[in-house]
Amino acid sequence: MFDSISDKFSGIMRSLAGKSKITEKNVQEAVEEIKMALLDADVNLRVVRRFINGTMEEATGEKVLKAVDPGQQFVKIVYDRMVALLGDEENQKLLLKGPDTTSVILMMGLQGSGKTTTAAKLALRLKKEGRRVMLVAADLVRPAAILQLQVLGEAVGVPVFSLEGEKNPAKVAKAALAQAKKDQRDVLIVDTSGRMHLDETLMDEIQKVRDAISPDETLFVADAMTGQNAVTIAKEFEQKVGISGVVLSKFDSDTRGGAALSLRSVVGKPIKFIGVGEKVEDLDPFYPYRIASRILG
Ligand code: GDP
Repeated sequence: MFDSISDKFSGIMRSLAGKSKITEKNVQEAVEEIKMALLDADVNLRVVRRFINGTMEEATGEKVLKAVDPGQQFVKIVYDRMVALLGDEENQKLLLKGPDTTSVILMMGLQGSGKTTTAAKLALRLKKEGRRVMLVAADLVRPAAILQLQVLGEAVGVPVFSLEGEKNPAKVAKAALAQAKKDQRDVLIVDTSGRMHLDETLMDEIQKVRDAISPDETLFVADAMTGQNAVTIAKEFEQKVGISGVVLSKFDSDTRGGAALSLRSVVGKPIKFIGVGEKVEDLDPFYPYRIASRILG
């Protein structure tokens, strides 16, 4: 995971970390290498520019160049900026109501992004926290989606609501919410349909589902392996539907890191979880500090 960018960054950091004196030229060279490493990792161009300009400005100030440990100061600047780029942990908790009301989580994203799997992973996680969860099969486009969710629901021990023969996902979601309230379920996780590409029909459909159930969380599932494409699509969903957080799926298979490092800054919404494998247990909270440490080596 992130091997290439991590190798490059740890090399750059090591070359400066131990130095008792560094010049503006040293900083310039290191910042140039950081720029190349970020671009190679497929980080959004504007994000890269902002990152390196800020680093350059801060690291060529007297506070760094005249410090007793300038190399360490430089490393700290890069680390702090990397953490800020990834997000702040305060905003990463799920926005759920107390256990005596039904909170609603709407899952959305492109087909194949990992929505259905993530819905089940989240259900398991919340169940383990003591929540009474219900899953909703409102992906009525992909033929096997309902069955897939039922199988996953069984695996995680969470009931799955579906309406046989119903073609309108907003109606399914609304009926599910009524059922969840009746059954005193405190979290409802709604799996919606995706498409291979963005289209108006999909946006229109998701807006209707959203309006039918007023979600507390609208989670966009982004496939980390698709890099900047995932960022562009997240931006589109944010504008058309509104998102409250991102789940970055297939993080385990992402060798570059471009989506992780760009999403927060471009879309302005926190990454809340990462998918780290195909199994239902493979969902972790997203910790900016840990990722930044891993990248900087
Ligand atoms: P959907 O069409 O968005 O509902 O996508 P699915 O949930 O069906 O997932 C598509 C494929 O991605 C499946 O083969 C999943 O097992 C796989 N997948 C989902 N999340 C992850 C993840 O975090 N890591 C890995 N390695 N595979 C994942």
